[in-house]
Amino acid sequence: MIPSAYDLAPDSWAERLAEWGEKPFRAAQLVQWLYAPTASFAAMSNLPASLRDRLSAEFLDLDGTAKVEDEGMADVGTRKLLLRLHDGQCVETVVIPSRERRTVCVSSQVGCAFHCAFCASGAMGFTRNLSRGEIVAQALRAEIAIGRRPDNVVFMGIGEPFANYDEVVAAVRTLNAPNGLGIGARRITISTCGVVPGIQRLAGEGLQAELSVSLHAPTDAQRSELMPVNRRWPLEQLIATCAEYTRQTDRIVTFEYTLVRDFNDSPADARALVRLLRGLKCRVNLIPLNPTEHFPGQTPPLSTLRGFQAFLQDAHVNTTLRVSRGGGMDAACGQLRLRRLHG
Ligand code: SF4
Repeated sequence: MIPSAYDLAPDSWAERLAEWGEKPFRAAQLVQWLYAPTASFAAMSNLPASLRDRLSAEFLDLDGTAKVEDEGMADVGTRKLLLRLHDGQCVETVVIPSRERRTVCVSSQVGCAFHCAFCASGAMGFTRNLSRGEIVAQALRAEIAIGRRPDNVVFMGIGEPFANYDEVVAAVRTLNAPNGLGIGARRITISTCGVVPGIQRLAGEGLQAELSVSLHAPTDAQRSELMPVNRRWPLEQLIATCAEYTRQTDRIVTFEYTLVRDFNDSPADARALVRLLRGLKCRVNLIPLNPTEHFPGQTPPLSTLRGFQAFLQDAHVNTTLRVSRGGGMDAACGQLRLRRLHG
């Protein structure tokens, strides 16, 4: 398989080019071009032709790592890029605008093996992991599409990041490196469905990235119904691991909690959630369910959403109610890819 130039750490080019007999300053020039970003090796005008030829021979074309195949738009300006990888597989990258920031939501795998009930990607099954370069290339494609460097990167696209731990953490390092994309670590969020060993490993990485955990239910019975991962790592173990993570890193954990009408939105659910999170340094993002054809649940009424939030806040749980930014057609996780596969 031909590697992508983005699979290498920015700092490793010095050694590679030295092995090729290039002058030491060429590595910095090349790295500057790579993350400018630049569409091709041929465009790297201050590099000698022989070096450009060698790069072209040994690595994929720069836009060949992830080529824009299709672009969709949701009703609030959310842009979705369907990217074709070198082996013909596709991944989805989403750009979410807010007033001041551009957040890019990247995928970490082609498909996903975790089968969360509400997720279209889970329904597609798992195909393969993405490489560091394929993850980084998503942020670069998004940058070209929106005409500016993303401010935030969230690993909330297709796939479970901790099921592809090494490549995801390597990609975070490139996204964060001053000679990579230079995106602040605190502006990079890794989101997991609750893979306990991944949380434990991340605690020891010395990264300042944010950790987000999809919780979605306050009891094992409810959570296992939505997320089979809960049978492997039930709530007690998950929450204890998060507590240890906050202790080791001195960082908080964000819990995502999708509110589903008459499923996990009652006052008893709010009480159970408060009990579960008692004493933990955390924040809860409440997300009204975005109904899809893959999941029969309904969005709770606004009064229920507000009541749930108020209960948590009264119990001193830091809570936000997230306005949906993907409510339009093709908006749910994985749907753009599904349409392409089926259409
Ligand atoms: S929500 Fe995430 S972990 Fe769950 S099936 Fe979808 S992509 Fe996989």
